[in-house]
Amino acid sequence: MSTDIKRITHLVGGSPWTGVAERTSKVYNPATGDVTGELDLASAATVDEVVKVAHDASKAWGQTSLTKRTQVLFAYRQLVNERKEQIAALITAEHGKVLSDALGEVTRGLEVIEFACGIPHLLKGGFSEGVSTKVDVYSIRQPLGVSAVISPFNFPAMVPMWFVPIAVACGNSVVIKPSEKDPSAANAMAELWKEAGLPDGVVNVLHGDKEAVDRLLEHPDIKSVSFVGSTPIAKYVYENGTKNGKRVQALGGAKNHMIVLPDADLDLAADAAVNAGFGSAGERCMAISALVAVEPIADELISKITDRMAKLKTGDGTRSCDMGPLVTGPHRDKVSGYVAAGVEEGAELVVDGRDGEFDGGADGFWLGPTLFDKVTPEMSIYTDEIFGPVLSVLRLPSYDAALDLVNSNPYGNGTAIFTNDGGAARRFQNEVEVGMVGINVPIPVPMAYYSFGGWKNSLFGDTHAHGLDGVHFFTRSKVVTSRWLDPSHGGINLGFPTGD
Ligand code: NAD
Repeated sequence: MSTDIKRITHLVGGSPWTGVAERTSKVYNPATGDVTGELDLASAATVDEVVKVAHDASKAWGQTSLTKRTQVLFAYRQLVNERKEQIAALITAEHGKVLSDALGEVTRGLEVIEFACGIPHLLKGGFSEGVSTKVDVYSIRQPLGVSAVISPFNFPAMVPMWFVPIAVACGNSVVIKPSEKDPSAANAMAELWKEAGLPDGVVNVLHGDKEAVDRLLEHPDIKSVSFVGSTPIAKYVYENGTKNGKRVQALGGAKNHMIVLPDADLDLAADAAVNAGFGSAGERCMAISALVAVEPIADELISKITDRMAKLKTGDGTRSCDMGPLVTGPHRDKVSGYVAAGVEEGAELVVDGRDGEFDGGADGFWLGPTLFDKVTPEMSIYTDEIFGPVLSVLRLPSYDAALDLVNSNPYGNGTAIFTNDGGAARRFQNEVEVGMVGINVPIPVPMAYYSFGGWKNSLFGDTHAHGLDGVHFFTRSKVVTSRWLDPSHGGINLGFPTGD
C-alpha cells in the first residue's frame, strides 16, 4: 500500500479494529480519480465480533440515567459543531460535493443531535391514576438493544446522524455500516462519541458490503435496522430484516417532481430548479429530477434556467465552484449513459454536461449540468432514478395532468409546487401522494423535530426517520398496570377485569 493511501478500518469498542481483513475495497478522490484509501470489508465473522461488543455495551447503557445520557449528547453536539469543518473536508475528499454543501450536510445532522438532547422530554410516558379501584396504569418506552444503521454514499455524515443520536439517546447500542464509497466521515464522527464520554462499544462502525449487510440482517442480537439507499436494496433489506424478526425502516430511491404553475414567480422557480437539480451534482434523494412545466410557461422557464446554468462552475469541491464531480467513475459512466439514452429516445438535449469544462484533475469523475426538454413519461430518463446532474423538463397542459403524473410515479419521496395561488397549493398538499411536500420550496427536507420519509417505493416500513417517529422506532413501549395493596382486598373474581 502506498504511503499516500490510508487504511480505513472498523471502529470497535472505541478503538480501530486490529484484525486483518480478508477483503478490501478502494476509496477514491472523485475530483482527481486517485485512490486515497483502502477500506477493510467485514466478513460475517467480523460482524459477529462487532455485534457482540455492541450487545455487551447495550446492557449498561440501557440502564444509564437520562441525565447522564443527556450530558453525553450535549457534549457530542459541542464536539461535532467544533469539528464540522474537518468532517466536511473528509466528505468532500471522498464524495466530491463542494465544501459548503458538505458543511450544510453536517449542520443538518447537528439538528438531529440537538433534537436528541431533549430525550428526557421525548421519552415521557403516560400515567392514569385510579383506572380501577386502587389501580394505576402507566406507559414506559425502553431501548431495543443493538440497532444497525446502514447508510448510502450521498450523505455520509447526515444520514447516519438521522438515526444514531436518537438510537443512543433512547439507550441503544449502534453498529453503523457506512457506504464503502466514502467511509471516513462515519469514523470521524464515531470517534467523537468517545470524547463526549459515551462508554466504549455503544457506537461502533463496521465497514463492508453485501456480506456484512446480510449478516447484520440475520444476526439474532440486531434488533432494528435503519437503512437508506436505492429502492431495490431497501426492499431487500426490509424483506429479509423483517423475515428475521427485526424492526426495519428502509428508505429507498426517488424521482422528485417540481411542478411550476403558470402563475408562479418564474425567477424563483428557475433558481429553485437549478439549485435542487444540480446541487451536490444531483446526488441527493431530494434532488429535483423532473421539472413539470404547466403550459404556456415552459419556453420562458427554460430560458431562465439555461441562463443560470451557463454561470455554474463545476470543479474540485475544495475550490470555488458550484458543483463537484460524481462519486465514482462507474457512476459517472452510468449517468452519461442516461444522457445518451435520452437523446436516442427523442428528448431535446438543451445543455449537454458531457461537453463541460471542469476545474479539477483530468481523471476526475466529471459530468456537467445537463438539461433535457420535451421529455415524456415513457423515456428512461424519466422512469429511472438517474442520481446525477440531469434535469428533465416535461411539458403538461394542466394542473390535473401534472398531479396525475406525480401520483402515477412509483416513487413518492419529495415533491414541490411553485405557484402564487394559495388555493392551488393547498389542493396540491392534500392530493399529492408523496411523503414530503414543498410549496415554493424546492428541497423540502423536514427539520429534525419532524420526521423524514417518503411514500410508496421510497420507503419500506411504518416509521420515518427522526422526529417522534425516530423515538418510537428506537424504543418499545410497555404498559404497566399496578395495584398497591391496602387493607380492602377485592377477593376472588374469575370474570375478565373491567374498569370498575
Ligand atoms: P446503495 O443502495 O447502493 O447502497 C446503500 C447501502 O447498501 C450501502 O451501505 C451499501 O454498502 C449497501 N449495499 C449495496 N449493495 C448491497 C446489496 N446487494 N446487499 C446489501 N447491501 C448492499 O445506495 P447508494 O448508491 O449508496 O446511495 C444512493 C441511493 O440512496 C439513491 O437511490 C438515493 O435515492 C438513495 N437515498 C435515499 C434517501 C432517502 O431518504 N429516501 C436518502 C439518501 C439516499
